[in-house]
Amino acid sequence: MTARTHDAFAFASLVTFAAFFPPENLNLTTLVVSVIGADVGALLPDLDQAGNRLWEMLPSGHNLGRIFRRIFYKHRTLTHSLIGVFAIYKLLEFVLPLVLNSGFLNTKIVLASIMIGYLSHLLADSLTEEGLPLLFPLNISFGIPPIRKMRIKTGKWFENFVVYPVIWIYLIWFIHLNQASLTNILRLVVK
Ligand SMILES: [Zn+2]
Repeated sequence: MTARTHDAFAFASLVTFAAFFPPENLNLTTLVVSVIGADVGALLPDLDQAGNRLWEMLPSGHNLGRIFRRIFYKHRTLTHSLIGVFAIYKLLEFVLPLVLNSGFLNTKIVLASIMIGYLSHLLADSLTEEGLPLLFPLNISFGIPPIRKMRIKTGKWFENFVVYPVIWIYLIWFIHLNQASLTNILRLVVK
């Protein structure tokens, strides 16, 4: 999936999750940081691709580069696995309270939002041909549906002209259907 699709899917996932599991309290800072957080979370898993570019910049004979390239070169490795999800959760759980001022915002809600974005990324990727290496370092890929040929090709017309618009149509439909509970969440902010 492209970054654009991941953005939209993360936002739709956040709104959906919030409607079903509304927070008990919410201030404006937490709301804004959470919306951005879901987006950041959705882009995190593909940092391994950015990582690939970093390894490429090392001189080709560089041993470290060679080792890391062998482990991480394939797109979708550690960051798209269960170990990766657990590691990023533990890391953020530790780091967020240190970098964000809990007097101004609720770091638990921000953490949950980032993880919703992250998981939405993995869910979206599982619909693509490549599938997900959930059990990395084991080389087994999982996908929905299990038959590879029935899945989506990343960045092709089906993603751009069907999947992407469908996410927005879903979002509008969902917001319309859940206006009352979503409005209640926004009321928490002005309270
Ligand atoms: Zn990905």
